[in-house]
Amino acid sequence: MKKILLPARPSVNLDADEGRGYNAGGCSGFPDIALENHHRFCSVPGYRKGQSVMVHRLIILGSGPAGYTAALYAARANLRPLLIDGGVGRGQELLGAGGQLMITTDVENYPGFEHGIQGPELMHRMRQQVLRFGTEIVEDLATRVDLSERPFRVWVNEQVYQARALIIATGASARWLGLPEERPVWEGGLGGAGISACATCDGFFFRGKEVAVVGGGDTAMEEAIYLTNHCTRVHVIHRRDALRASKIMQDRAFRNPKITFVWNSVVEKVHDPAQKRVTGLTLRDVKTGETRELAVEGLFVAIGHKPNTDLFVGQLQLDPTGYIVTHHDVRTSRYAVFAAGDVQDSEYRQAVTAAGSGCMAAIQAERLLEAEGDSMPDSAPDW
Ligand SMILES: Cc1cc2nc3c(=O)[nH]c(=O)nc-3n(C[C@H](O)[C@H](O)[C@H](O)COP(=O)(O)OP(=O)(O)OC[C@H]3O[C@@H](n4cnc5c(N)ncnc54)[C@H](O)[C@@H]3O)c2cc1C
Repeated sequence: MKKILLPARPSVNLDADEGRGYNAGGCSGFPDIALENHHRFCSVPGYRKGQSVMVHRLIILGSGPAGYTAALYAARANLRPLLIDGGVGRGQELLGAGGQLMITTDVENYPGFEHGIQGPELMHRMRQQVLRFGTEIVEDLATRVDLSERPFRVWVNEQVYQARALIIATGASARWLGLPEERPVWEGGLGGAGISACATCDGFFFRGKEVAVVGGGDTAMEEAIYLTNHCTRVHVIHRRDALRASKIMQDRAFRNPKITFVWNSVVEKVHDPAQKRVTGLTLRDVKTGETRELAVEGLFVAIGHKPNTDLFVGQLQLDPTGYIVTHHDVRTSRYAVFAAGDVQDSEYRQAVTAAGSGCMAAIQAERLLEAEGDSMPDSAPDW
């Protein structure tokens, strides 16, 4: 059920400029209209004839570090952004409000938290911060977008929202093996308590320990090599008898004395949720069907990520793996549409880089809207 969260106390004055959406049709009495719920309706002549529509200056899709940071900057620039947060999510395939950090425990590399912070706590604080500055939040998933003309349209089921500019921060989802033990630790699994999808994020917690990495591509090799900086041994478990990774990554992995390979094998079970920590794996040989135990204290699943870009197929330029292609850091192939965070970054995939690009997207959106004034061209030569 869709719910709109409003800031507890608007921290800015709702003066005439503040209330201005796309104003080409002239909404002179605009600031007086139903401001208590912040829904400012404004007739735009020639657009959806006969309908009264509201056009937001900025809509942000996604509530991970990129989306919240974009909202923070946009709200403080008086853009009154509408943020569609992803709602309750659909399990680990599509995370809901708060994004990927909602399924992890300690985050020790986000600046400002000397002793680290729990992922959900960090995301809760970000949410409170954007609400404080006047961001409206729709607690649901955007189900469709139309970016063919401005104002852009975003649907949440039957409800349509419109905006002059859009920031896409829908993130990416790690691909998981589908084991019940991958669920977060507070749901009875070991996710965030020994099972991870990010060596850069969590490798440090496994200093001096033996771990396993599942996967056979470049990402898996990168993760395995990185983990050898911390761990005594890294077992790479691959379901085939040859790697998919590039030759150079294979060579680096094969040369590393701390890495051993377990071929033709899949993880059947992770022990031991009852102890709330990883104590070992049951592996099954896919050729013989035999099972065996492997004693490790951590499992890194490195079978790829899926950017959440299904909504934009055919409307924005995507790279061959589905990530949004950006130029000038955060500009997409469509004028006035920006992308920030993991949805456009297959390389760094960190909370701090996502937040940084969310900041860039908001600043660029603010400058674009400011430069346009009340006009709303469909493109610009220097985009
Ligand atoms: C287990 C794990 C542990 C990690 N630990 C760390 C760590 O310790 N340190 C670190 O820096 N990084 C860590 N990361 C990586 C970090 O979480 C990501 O880099 C970061 O969350 C990316 O932020 P984002 O805002 O781009 O996207 P995400 O966090 O993925 O958020 C995307 C948001 O978009 C929403 N969304 C998706 N589709 C739609 C839609 N159609 N409509 C509306 N909303 C939508 C989602 O619900 C979500 O709110 C970890 C990742 C994982 C998986």
